[in-house]
Amino acid sequence: MIDAVLPTYNRAPLSFDRGEGAWAIAADGTRYLDLGAGIAVNALGHAHPELVQALTEQAGRIWHVSNLYQIPQQQALADRLVAATFADTVFVTNSGTEAAELAIKMVRKYWDHAGDPERIEIVTFEGAFHGRSTGAIAAAGSAKMTGGYGPLMPGFVQVPWGDADALRAAVSDRTAAIMVEPIQGEGGIRALDDAMMRLLDELRQTTGCLLVFDEVQCGMGRTGRLFAHEWSGVTPDIMMVAKGIGGGFPLGAVLATERTAAPMTAGSHGSTYGGNPLACAVGCKVLDIIADPDFLAEVNRKAGLFRQRLEGLVDGHPDVFEAVRGQGLMLGLKCRVPPADVVRAGYAEHLLTVPAADNTLRLLPPLTISDDEIAEAVARLDRAAARVTAEAGRSGDRAAS
Ligand SMILES: *Cc1c(COP(=O)(O)O)cnc(C)c1O
Repeated sequence: MIDAVLPTYNRAPLSFDRGEGAWAIAADGTRYLDLGAGIAVNALGHAHPELVQALTEQAGRIWHVSNLYQIPQQQALADRLVAATFADTVFVTNSGTEAAELAIKMVRKYWDHAGDPERIEIVTFEGAFHGRSTGAIAAAGSAKMTGGYGPLMPGFVQVPWGDADALRAAVSDRTAAIMVEPIQGEGGIRALDDAMMRLLDELRQTTGCLLVFDEVQCGMGRTGRLFAHEWSGVTPDIMMVAKGIGGGFPLGAVLATERTAAPMTAGSHGSTYGGNPLACAVGCKVLDIIADPDFLAEVNRKAGLFRQRLEGLVDGHPDVFEAVRGQGLMLGLKCRVPPADVVRAGYAEHLLTVPAADNTLRLLPPLTISDDEIAEAVARLDRAAARVTAEAGRSGDRAAS
């Protein structure tokens, strides 16, 4: 009999009753060190006092107001994002997927408005993840996400990850936009290097195509800058944000330049919940904390410490790990074993990690993780890796006997 919860997830037999900073706590009091943070969502950890205060204060005033009216909290969030980024304007959503949908619509509207409605082709990359809507799965294109859901929305062209020649060949004056995660999350913590970022900029200049960055996972301080593209200096025309921006409350946004967003006039898009006071009160508080240069400096310092320890961990377990990847506190361990095995061994050590594609284990701790917790995380990863090795040895013995 089908479960009352639609069984689209393979869930671990774990549940949590409360959280404190980098710790998720089961009902029996068992404390798990959380290096998944709800997949980069709990950027400020669990139950951050200032976020709890922002949420409960707003909850006692007014939760929801229609976008038929002015929403001061939404205006404040948009003003902050515009002040802190390349963008001139912001649409607030409830999720990353909705942000991806609007980004795609905005690209189409831009070219329609420019008198070139046939220019619909959006170039994306293998291993991409932009969400689970029909548009977002067509954009990502992987068989795993699209299987059985055809016909897919047309207009997407895929190139292999990081392949400059394939990208040059795919982009022409028919290309409406290039849509890319500066660092792939689900794809395996794979970063575009500076040369690729410059190539994106060059192709925009030579063909006029738009650049759409999906910073749903790599944005909001995760890499040690407010947004990951800031490391390269190449700014997008449109950017999707979600996950960390709500600190655990469902919230996302599309940021755009005035030139790109100009055709998006009244009635061209909308959302019932998007930008409601509850979500935006939390989002403003998250942004105030993360955009502080001192906070980002701490993320970078701790990232250096974590990375150094992880290099040592990889050296100590060459049969389990191959290399450290990523930037800031968006880290990955390329594995020589299925990453799900390390995730499972981590559960036994009361450590939460997340698998990704390309045989990579994801480490996305709250940005507020302490030095001591980083040391504890590496100690638990060390013991988890030893478990994986011991289990491989046992199954090897069984195979030999
Ligand atoms: C998670 C994610 C999305 C989708 O966000 P949802 O909030 O799950 O809809 C889109 N893009 C990237 C890069 C993501 O990591």
